[in-house]
Amino acid sequence: LVRAVNVMKSFHGNEVLKGIDLDVHRGEVVCLLGPSGSGKTTFLRCINQLESIDGGRIWVDGDLVGYRAEGEHLHHLTDKQVAAQRRDIGMVFQRFNLFPHKTAIENVMEAPIQVKGVDKKTARQHAEELLAQVGLADKSGAYPGALSGGQQQRVAIARALAMDPKLMLFDEPTSALDPELVGEVLRVMRDLASAGMTMIVVTHEMGFAREVADHVVFMDAGVVCEEGTPKDVIGNPQQDRTKSFLKRMR
Ligand code: ATP
Repeated sequence: LVRAVNVMKSFHGNEVLKGIDLDVHRGEVVCLLGPSGSGKTTFLRCINQLESIDGGRIWVDGDLVGYRAEGEHLHHLTDKQVAAQRRDIGMVFQRFNLFPHKTAIENVMEAPIQVKGVDKKTARQHAEELLAQVGLADKSGAYPGALSGGQQQRVAIARALAMDPKLMLFDEPTSALDPELVGEVLRVMRDLASAGMTMIVVTHEMGFAREVADHVVFMDAGVVCEEGTPKDVIGNPQQDRTKSFLKRMR
């Protein structure tokens, strides 16, 4: 479903991604691990076109991300075409970014109504199902300020799912949470994985990566340092950089 080939990205001469390759098959969960600053977030943002890439190619579901190829030449997509590509990708951030003046259910209904033109009644029905799916059926009328961090993040997941994405990107979804709230969010993500959602997850939760990931990618300083099954990469790392990172995580 996702193929990245030799993806490069610099910020003001600082090379953050130095040729990342990644393949994610449909229904697979891939966890991106690595030290702070290794480029994990930047890579996710490139897949979702929150950043443009300086080199390489990314395809999602067979479509080249951000460009249209014409023979040898690449043409930038129009804003409208970019928006259409982004619609199919759900993203969940470290900070939940809910609309504070809208209730949980209004947050979930917003994009389908505004972006897809879904009628209010259908959007509400779907939003209710999604809130139930993330265990928040009884919180649909609550404002984000009245919800715990874990509940807010589950609303954010429901909101992303409301667009029926074919791919979900998670950027350290539990790292801003109090420890006792991490489990409820991971549980929702685990259910989503079991239901067959294709997911790329940047996380420091080794337990989650070990149990849920089909494939683990360890990034360091803008390159993929090591990748494979969680059993291999986490259980029996080969590279020194992976070993020392995992030692620090314990
Ligand atoms: P973390 O776990 O801390 O989020 P990360 O592996 O996700 O780390 P990135 O957030 O991708 O790493 O950042 C990689 C590098 O890119 C960092 O040195 C960061 O300062 C730099 N960087 C990221 N975004 C920008 C930007 N918009 N402008 C300039 N530099 C940036």
